[in-house]
Amino acid sequence: MAPKNEPTFRQSVDMMFNRAVALMDLPPGLEEKIRVCNATYTVRFGVRLRGKIETFTGYRSVHSEHMEPVKGGIRFALSVNQDEVEALAALMTYKCALVEAPFGGSKGGLCINPRDYDEEELERITRRFSYELIKRDLINPAQNVPAPDMGTGEREMAWMADQYKRMNTTDINGAACVTGKPINAGGIQGRVEATGRGVQFALREFFRHPEAVKAAGLEGKLDGKRVIVQGLGNVGFHAAMFLQKEDGCKITGIIEHDGALFAENGLDVEAVRAWIVKHGGVSGYPDARHTSEGAKVLEEDCDILIPAAMEGVINLENAARVKAPLIIEAANGPVTAGADEILREKGCVIIPDMYANAGGVTVSYFEWVKNLSHIRFGRMQRRQEEARHQLIIDELERLDRHLGDAWSMTPHFKEKYLRGADELELVRSGLDDTMRIAYQSMHEVWQERENVTDLRTAAYLCSIQKVAASYKAKGL
Ligand code: GLU
Repeated sequence: MAPKNEPTFRQSVDMMFNRAVALMDLPPGLEEKIRVCNATYTVRFGVRLRGKIETFTGYRSVHSEHMEPVKGGIRFALSVNQDEVEALAALMTYKCALVEAPFGGSKGGLCINPRDYDEEELERITRRFSYELIKRDLINPAQNVPAPDMGTGEREMAWMADQYKRMNTTDINGAACVTGKPINAGGIQGRVEATGRGVQFALREFFRHPEAVKAAGLEGKLDGKRVIVQGLGNVGFHAAMFLQKEDGCKITGIIEHDGALFAENGLDVEAVRAWIVKHGGVSGYPDARHTSEGAKVLEEDCDILIPAAMEGVINLENAARVKAPLIIEAANGPVTAGADEILREKGCVIIPDMYANAGGVTVSYFEWVKNLSHIRFGRMQRRQEEARHQLIIDELERLDRHLGDAWSMTPHFKEKYLRGADELELVRSGLDDTMRIAYQSMHEVWQERENVTDLRTAAYLCSIQKVAASYKAKGL
């Protein structure tokens, strides 16, 4: 968390917004309209637990309704407060605009430590919170569509969707009221991995641009890069695992709540995750150096730093000591506005949160579309695609017979080529395309506008432009 002498999270987001908007020429007053949070609802409700009534406080903040439904996760954490929820809602507006997910921005939170309750209690609390939001249309397929965030996952989303359906029995699109649901409750393949996968696709795209790699003071490809990741939750785990298994990165450091692991030759991400699940933390993990001062590892030498835990972890106190030349913000708001300035001056390149972690909401968008269309992606075309591919294979096989030893098909080509894409492949392909296009739009602004010297400002410019255009189109 950011030290006391720093602006709050919401102020920090506003400062970054202001920096970008100063370079734009918006109609008078529009800047203010885009920046402010439209509404924040606070709900307090009681649940009878263990013989007494416990009162809970929850929020749903709606930042911008230039497009509806508004979209954004709901987190369960003791640290949830209005300022944080509003900052996160604003980031959702910019994020959705940047990756062209047709939503406004929203975010929710419940002040609770989910570990303090058993599953049945959590279900009752979640359903009661959902009830409060649903009756105010703060969960609704056409108006406000939550998703998982810190402390929530598929299970909570299934409870919320079911609660909505109980209260709206004739809504044929009820399943689209939340995303991130389990597959058997209307979810989509690839949503759980989506944010981590998006981080991987973002880095791959970054490394396709030699001038970007050079700006970070790095060289070559993603292969062999030394990576430190903070937080091995859903986002950090998937990002680190894919980078290690598919891109040849070395995960040299993993920071968790009870300290950090460090191994020059790289850690086995899946083994560390299994250890955490079993033992509740990284302490005691063999084959690595352990330090109880986890935050210090943010300052270790590496090529890429991935803060994937929470906001404000790189702040005025430690920014000057951070050595990583490239930071990719898998969490929302991990670098404060003050730290951002220090790092920029040092020449560090930051791939900003609103782009870097947009994989989650992108696949949420696919899930929402799937729910509204009531059909799994690929169901109509998969076999037809296979039949057409079969025609080519038949021709190639004829050629193969004809040419004898002079030519033959590459082994496994036939199976690979024949197989029509299933939902998971389509989701990954849609996500990859989204992450590439969004990067390219930021990159162009970063490289071509003289007064834009960082990717965050470029990202803000791209998204504010889009939000402004949609306000203008509405006649506002
Ligand atoms: N909570 C995630 C985020 O911060 C996902 C939001 C969504 O899928 O709507 O982007």
